[in-house]
Amino acid sequence: MAIATVNPATGETLAIFEPLSEAATKEKVRLAAETFRMFRHTSFSERAGILLRVAEILETKREELSRLITTEMGKPIRSSRNEIDKSVKLCRYYAIEAERLLADEYIPSDAQRSYIRCEPLGPILAVMPWNFPFWQVIRVAAPAIMAGNVVLLKHASNVPQCALAIESIFRSAGCVGGVFQTVLVGSSKVAALIAEPEVAAVWLTGSDAAGSSVGAQAGAQIKKSVLELGGSDPFVVMASADLAKAVRTGVMSRTLNSGQSCVSAKRFIIAEEVYEEFERAFVEQMKCLRVGDPLDEATHVGPLASHEALRKLEAQIDASLSAGARVLLGGRRVGGRGFYYAPTVLIELAPSASTYTEEFFGPVAILFRAADTDDAIRLANDTPYGLGASVWTNDEEECARFVREIEAGTVVVNGLVASDARFPFGGVKRSGYGRELGEYGLREFVNLKTIRIQGATP
Ligand code: NAP
Repeated sequence: MAIATVNPATGETLAIFEPLSEAATKEKVRLAAETFRMFRHTSFSERAGILLRVAEILETKREELSRLITTEMGKPIRSSRNEIDKSVKLCRYYAIEAERLLADEYIPSDAQRSYIRCEPLGPILAVMPWNFPFWQVIRVAAPAIMAGNVVLLKHASNVPQCALAIESIFRSAGCVGGVFQTVLVGSSKVAALIAEPEVAAVWLTGSDAAGSSVGAQAGAQIKKSVLELGGSDPFVVMASADLAKAVRTGVMSRTLNSGQSCVSAKRFIIAEEVYEEFERAFVEQMKCLRVGDPLDEATHVGPLASHEALRKLEAQIDASLSAGARVLLGGRRVGGRGFYYAPTVLIELAPSASTYTEEFFGPVAILFRAADTDDAIRLANDTPYGLGASVWTNDEEECARFVREIEAGTVVVNGLVASDARFPFGGVKRSGYGRELGEYGLREFVNLKTIRIQGATP
């Protein structure tokens, strides 16, 4: 894939970037390793200073950066602003909390002193996706830097200007040398980067196909990897739920970021007793969404991020229809130019359809009927993925069963699944392994060193 900015709203190529040569890439790795030898000894307050300045710059440039995000990957401008705001909060969270979360932990033993110390790993390779081009990067870079590591960013090839803007922000915030560097290369160069002896570990956020490849490459090099992959999250609505709120939240969850979020609700599993009412209200609200120019404040759903994404979604809908599914709403491109796809509601997707187990990355909701609680849990888990799940019920016993039996990294009852700086975020099954965010996410970036100091022998 070319490294280029193609405006998804128009299809127009705005900028093309030469990928970095092999020699220039190696130089970035060398600089990262050299900088790490110094940076690992910096204090928490120095590192916190960097993140607080990053937060400040993000705030100052909020409008400019939001427009850049929208122009490069097409999300509605209000979502871009939310992304910047969320990134600011995350920088401040880790700037304030990291020292406490990584403090030495003393453990009583027969030694004179014994404790666990969190030490940095080294240069971290971050292979990142385009769907939240700032937030995804900040959520790896902020904790990595607070733990004393340095970062090499290989961003998605369709958001090179975001990648360069983030590097420039970290530099302006005081990241000297190779504390934070963007490496403009395509995915075919990732294996070579992982194999560089100085690269300590790799974080990938992306599809399970990329995860499988990156995980294997890291394994071959015996290097740590954290994989945040795709999802096909269930949104379960039971008879006791607040139906109006469930419908509103479901529509929002499915169409946020124009349907291109890993944890948006994708499969709607509705109890038989309330199915008809839910379907009617859901289709009605999906119909009212305004699809259009993502720079327009009134737009709810913008274009998909690329022509390839549009073609893939179309092929998935075609395959679903051929396998017997029915479209209640949408199911087609919209607009003469740009990569727009209409908000779509699909029903009767059979388990035998090839797309039944796939992730739909666009504004497409698939509705299923559940006969009872057992059936709802069975359907919720009938996916290769296990990222998030939203369950709507006001029945205590039912709630306890969903919490216990749903296979996912996050279960939210009567609310929207969304990442939060304070809580670990990640998946099970083909949604990956390892965690980001919170204390657990921060500790992925460290060597937990056990230290036991014995007394001198008499
Ligand atoms: P993608 O195609 O997997 O790309 C993600 C990143 O991986 C890009 O930088 C890409 O580089 C690189 N890449 C792709 N194939 C690779 C390979 N074989 N080896 C090494 N690197 C490779 O995913 P995407 O389409 O950009 O993003 C959408 C996917 O990400 C969805 O499945 C979504 O659910 C998932 N996602 C997960 C989370 C989470 O936290 N769990 C968050 C956001 C998104 P190029 O751009 O150069 O190809």
